[in-house]
Amino acid sequence: MKAVFLNAAKLDFDNKLDFSPLTTLTTLTNYDSSENDEILARVQDQDIIITKELPVGRDVISQFPPSVKLICEAGTGYNNIDIVAAREKNIDVCNIPSYSTEAVAQLAITFVLNLSASLPQQHHMLSRKDFSNFTNFLSVPHFELQGKTLGVIGAGAIGRNTVRLGLALGMNVIIYDPFPKTFGEDVKFVSIEEVLKQSDFISLHCPLTADTKHIINKERLSLMKPSAYIVNTSRGALINEADLIEALRNGQIAGAGLDVQEIEPPSTDNPLFEMENVIMTPHIGWRRYESRQRLVNLMGDNINAFIEGSPINVVNK
Ligand code: NAD
Repeated sequence: MKAVFLNAAKLDFDNKLDFSPLTTLTTLTNYDSSENDEILARVQDQDIIITKELPVGRDVISQFPPSVKLICEAGTGYNNIDIVAAREKNIDVCNIPSYSTEAVAQLAITFVLNLSASLPQQHHMLSRKDFSNFTNFLSVPHFELQGKTLGVIGAGAIGRNTVRLGLALGMNVIIYDPFPKTFGEDVKFVSIEEVLKQSDFISLHCPLTADTKHIINKERLSLMKPSAYIVNTSRGALINEADLIEALRNGQIAGAGLDVQEIEPPSTDNPLFEMENVIMTPHIGWRRYESRQRLVNLMGDNINAFIEGSPINVVNK
């Protein structure tokens, strides 16, 4: 079988990854990146297409040659691929349900820890030689986490790990997830409104779908405590960014930790860059070496299972 990775450099940006798990049953061609108008030429005669957050829309999929039978997204979120268009052409789309679970949960809690100690504000103040936090009363929020409430929206793989880390810090954990889940006694399932009202930190861990786009909007932000923070390591469009900016400007909420933005990278004049109570990172949740090599290994499992006739992790059955 022939497989082509259309934008391998997005995953292997440091040339450190071992791709041999993908080549036990395939001949693999890697392209560093592919523009939309290059895709069709590159998928000719290929059986398996591998993408990493590369937009592959109906316009392209509808013209895929009949040889293509599988699109393997090198990640968990697959909102970049038109899975309905793929199904119409009898192409399976599979993802990697969890490869960076611990890393993303650790990043979410890194934001929580940093925001609770107002590290971004303190760093900014010292950088401009403002020593008032040495010489006067501390002028920024600074508090312990035990006993504070962590609200988790979406209790899947990453959400669960975030819950576990929050509990380890002594936080009370409340969860909103519309789909039934079993958890120990230590957590409480509540409505999304209750998560917003009660939490000191809200961490988003649901996928981006038509239902969850702008799940956090002006109305929902208005339910949050002015001392509360929002953390998003999932997908930028879960939050209406204009509403978030307004809520931060008005002091309606205390701050935010954002690994993902509505437009990536954000425009250079995005007001979030100017806000000292906001930490932004460039969608790094999945990028630690360990996570990326695990991803390649799991993609090998997906591809081998597909070739052997028992596909796994198919998201468009
Ligand atoms: P998962 O599928 O295991 O969990 C998603 C959870 O969201 C499920 O429990 C589901 O029931 C819940 N959910 C679905 N709709 C919901 C809604 N309307 N409201 C609340 N909850 C809802 O996925 P995961 O592995 O935990 O990953 C979560 C998301 O994290 C992915 O979809 C991806 O977008 C994002 N992610 C980001 C990075 C990064 O680099 N920052 C890396 C990996 C994953």
